Amino acid sequence: LLDGQAVDDHQITVCVRKRPISRKEVNRKEIDVISVPRKDMLIVHEPRSKVDLTKFLENHKFRFDYAFNDTCDNAMVYKYTAKPLVKTIFEGGMATCFAYGQTGSGKTHTMGGEFNGKVQDCKNGIYAMAAKDVFVTLNMPRYRAMNLVFDLLADKQKLRVLEDGKQQVQVVGLTEKVVDGVEEVLKLIQHGNAARTSGQTSANSNSSRSHAVFQIVLRPQGSTKIHGKFSFIDLAGNERGVDTSSADRQTRMEGAEINKSLLALKECIRALGKQSAHLPFRVSKLTQVLRDSFIGEKSKTCMIAMISPGLSSCEHTLNTLRYADRVKEL
Ligand code: ADP
Ligand code: MG
Repeated sequence: LLDGQAVDDHQITVCVRKRPISRKEVNRKEIDVISVPRKDMLIVHEPRSKVDLTKFLENHKFRFDYAFNDTCDNAMVYKYTAKPLVKTIFEGGMATCFAYGQTGSGKTHTMGGEFNGKVQDCKNGIYAMAAKDVFVTLNMPRYRAMNLVFDLLADKQKLRVLEDGKQQVQVVGLTEKVVDGVEEVLKLIQHGNAARTSGQTSANSNSSRSHAVFQIVLRPQGSTKIHGKFSFIDLAGNERGVDTSSADRQTRMEGAEINKSLLALKECIRALGKQSAHLPFRVSKLTQVLRDSFIGEKSKTCMIAMISPGLSSCEHTLNTLRYADRVKEL
């Protein structure tokens, strides 16, 4: 990829982002096992030992559309992932952007915004940057006549997902807010982010067990018909899906559910662009809700796989990279 060149001619873009090692990790002697030698390559240097106990590094090389090193900021990640997709929804298409990865790898940081101490500054997240670009585009003369609806799924209210005879999926009672400026969107995002983590002792414990969906819906003025839709998904921590050994039954069941939805998601994305392929969207609520984003010629999807740099995350990191690798491989 050349600088400034968008990947918008692909139907699917798969990128990986390495977050910087934190001070806490440095303090507990965590070592960085990830290198990004090129803009499209990432290497995991896994320490191994031979039978005679001599140590060596096993290098796992992965190629993606884009590999973001730990020096990249959210704006850079946005530029090569979700930004090119804003155009898609104005052209009447569906766009989807997923943040995938282990808990603590940077999914919410990337989607929701950077943390200033404990508060999330939602202005520099992908949600906000995309919302801003939607308004920039909307204010271009061509699009002025359109009315914009934001649909934020952030409440803790229980909602039902129904499918009608024409296989249209409906989330009953979902809150849709009509907004006319990016400030209003940021308020909604802040509200949603707060609702997602409320009632929890640790900010991560709740959000790592749920998928968060934020959707921007474009409708022509006075019409209920959808012109285009951009879905942003901050996925549950993928390590939750592999943890089936927990003593707590609730936790085990949640893990199995998360695993099922992430597998279904992978299969749905892989099936994109293959006309005859069967889409297992009914397998999980996540894929069911996103069904209309997976179908249609104009649909585009990007996945940003997030990884932690530390050795203690190595196994989860390899799982994340293999998942992203499978998504990419069409
Ligand atoms: P996740 O949502 O994947 O569980 P978070 O986004 O909450 O992870 O990130 C975990 C911690 O790491 C947070 O304190 C966050 O501020 C920090 N962090 C994540 N990504 C980055 C990054 N690219 N640069 C700096 N700090 C980051
Ligand atoms: Mg999170």
